[in-house]
Amino acid sequence: MQPPRIQYGRADIGRLINLLRNYPQLSRSELAAMSLVTPATIGHQVRDLMEAGWIKESSSRRGAQVGRPRLGLVVNDEAAYAIVAVIGLTTVIVAMVDFGGHILIKREIPQSMAAVARGITVVSQTISEVMAAQALDPVKCAGLGIAIPGIWDAENETVVFSPNLPEWEGMKVGELFRRSVGIEPVVVENDADAAAWGELWFGTGRDVQDMMYILCDVGIGSGLVINRQLVRGQDNSVGEIGHMWVGAPDSTSRCGCGHHGCLEASASLASLNRYVDAGMSLSDALEKIAEYVGMSLSSIINLLCPQALVLGGALLEQNPVLWPLIVQSTRSRVLNHLLHKSQLILSSLGSHAPLLGLASLVFERQLLAAQGYPPESLSPTRWSHPNSDALKFFYE
Ligand SMILES: [Zn+2]
Repeated sequence: MQPPRIQYGRADIGRLINLLRNYPQLSRSELAAMSLVTPATIGHQVRDLMEAGWIKESSSRRGAQVGRPRLGLVVNDEAAYAIVAVIGLTTVIVAMVDFGGHILIKREIPQSMAAVARGITVVSQTISEVMAAQALDPVKCAGLGIAIPGIWDAENETVVFSPNLPEWEGMKVGELFRRSVGIEPVVVENDADAAAWGELWFGTGRDVQDMMYILCDVGIGSGLVINRQLVRGQDNSVGEIGHMWVGAPDSTSRCGCGHHGCLEASASLASLNRYVDAGMSLSDALEKIAEYVGMSLSSIINLLCPQALVLGGALLEQNPVLWPLIVQSTRSRVLNHLLHKSQLILSSLGSHAPLLGLASLVFERQLLAAQGYPPESLSPTRWSHPNSDALKFFYE
């Protein structure tokens, strides 16, 4: 008699694959312990995933000093790949990521993305070049992930707010890329949320429960993760930290949203360039920016106290001296008893965070579709925290 087929929870498949991406060569029992799922359920899931070619067994280096080599489970890197594109204001990054979460090829193109038609043409051409350069089987392409600097209404498939790229507002970005590139499905995500997914699955956020990712770039955005779930709020609007009020309203700090004194208008990469162009020394400009960022971060810690605040983006990558200034400015404003509760962490993934986050979303959608879930149920979901006791066991 055939064993009963278990209809897995949607999150379980993404969680299992990500556990194996992060902790390769786990045994089935370790996987069961870490994911808090019964060994019988894990047995069924592993069998199905192996039959479909998503994971495979591999000789383990761990615990194999004597006797037969121990077989552990690993993700099959070659099972699929995703094409991902992060649309910035002045650059676009296109990459190909394999199923194991490795970036196979990455292209960064300096290009104003203000005009939608021109932007889509450039992204589409770059995607074609990337696919031609790698020459992988098109059948193994899991889909296309697009990150945009704006609020994405997944229900209506429309950009609803993008003050720095206003021409993109109202655009059905997924449909435009679907027609232009010819890859399906297309998963669209806010850029800071995509980076938060990347950090949560592959970076600093792997072992935390709550975190906020703050993208400090030409604009400033954030992705909030509570209990390892991305908090989206009404209309996907959670995380607009760039429009937190931080300064005295003056004519020089008018924000793209129309208000004065927003963080984004006072402490973004665009603000830095504006300060320097106006004659301020670079060191003075960076100190000023650190003050504004510290005001916002300390308010977030005092309000939410997440385990980690992870910062990334071009502003920090191009100005390493800024990081200690931000830490100091933030800590000077945080409530004393919260000082050591929230860690301030510089992103270890850098510009790879949104690329990996997007790829994970694309792969998760493909895995779920393969399980027979209808397309409308395939919105990005959650990944529970692994059992920390089992993690300790893994590292011993
Ligand atoms: Zn604003």
